[in-house]
Amino acid sequence: MKLRPPFLIAVGILSLVSIAGPVTAAAPESRSRITILYDAFGTDSSMTKDWGFSALVEIAGKRILFDTGNDADIFAANVKAKGVDLKTLDFVVLSHRHSDHMAGLNYVLSVNPTVKIYAPKEGFGIYGSSLPSSFYRKDETLSPEMRYYGGAPPQIMKFGAAWRGANFELIDKTTEIAPGMTLIALVSDAVGTKELKELSLAINTPEGLVVVVGCSHPGIEKIVEAAAAINPKIHLIAGGFHLVVAPDDAIAKVVATLKDTYKVERIAPGHCTGEPTFAALKKAFGDRYIYAGLGTTVALGANVPSDMRRGEGPALQQDDLNTYRRLAHREDPFGILQARRLRTKASQL
Ligand SMILES: [Zn+2]
Ligand SMILES: [Zn+2]
Repeated sequence: MKLRPPFLIAVGILSLVSIAGPVTAAAPESRSRITILYDAFGTDSSMTKDWGFSALVEIAGKRILFDTGNDADIFAANVKAKGVDLKTLDFVVLSHRHSDHMAGLNYVLSVNPTVKIYAPKEGFGIYGSSLPSSFYRKDETLSPEMRYYGGAPPQIMKFGAAWRGANFELIDKTTEIAPGMTLIALVSDAVGTKELKELSLAINTPEGLVVVVGCSHPGIEKIVEAAAAINPKIHLIAGGFHLVVAPDDAIAKVVATLKDTYKVERIAPGHCTGEPTFAALKKAFGDRYIYAGLGTTVALGANVPSDMRRGEGPALQQDDLNTYRRLAHREDPFGILQARRLRTKASQL
């Protein structure tokens, strides 16, 4: 029987569907991608939708858990549904102290108690903090029993974290935590979240900067401005833009700033971005709008096709497509031609 190309392609696709494994499966080569583990919209029926955010960021050889969702049990179930191994994380980033981003931390610590956790440093913050004792006014005329620490305070006063023993590293200002990986630290001045500090993760890649945001309380425009100072070529922004109650004119302004001022290449909004903002971004970015609902894996890297459009199910999962294209570039992707050659040779003997 002569194998015709359409048959070979069909065999290839069938094999690839079974090749795609869980997120932790040994990859044929190091892959860069973002997998959404917690959000309130999505198409993966094996996961539970809930308000909050968490994403596994696999990039530049590192596995980073960005935020931990709103409910430890749902987070644990979603992590298991996606086959994510939390024991082998390089580090965790907690964007800010809102519970819809950190309630799954207890589960992370139950699996990986020593993992490094980057969190914002805030005065008397929930992640612990410290201050020099010089911060408070002294009155040396008072008797020792009326004075703090009997008048002899420690030089540095330490304030406890809600997670005792966790390996927190508190970030006070924008800091490069690994080569090409920066935590952008900004403070919100919006009514309701004044003085809330938030961390966003910016990673330099050959395609430009990849930025992951939690809630963007300091303002997505301010975060992107800080990101552009690291690298003006912004390849992708993923996460919550906090425009969930914003009026249309405010949404239009943000969309124009991202698209025209900062020339953001691809956008993968989720969480508190808001439904009208999803619509406005989809309209403005078109094919460069990357659907990023619960369970979606956003592939990163050069020449990634934008077939994860909002509301459209891709014919093949992104992983499958990438593997397929890689194999298709080889001369004899499945070894079938070689087998035929060997058979022909044997029959000629
Ligand atoms: Zn928040
Ligand atoms: Zn949030």
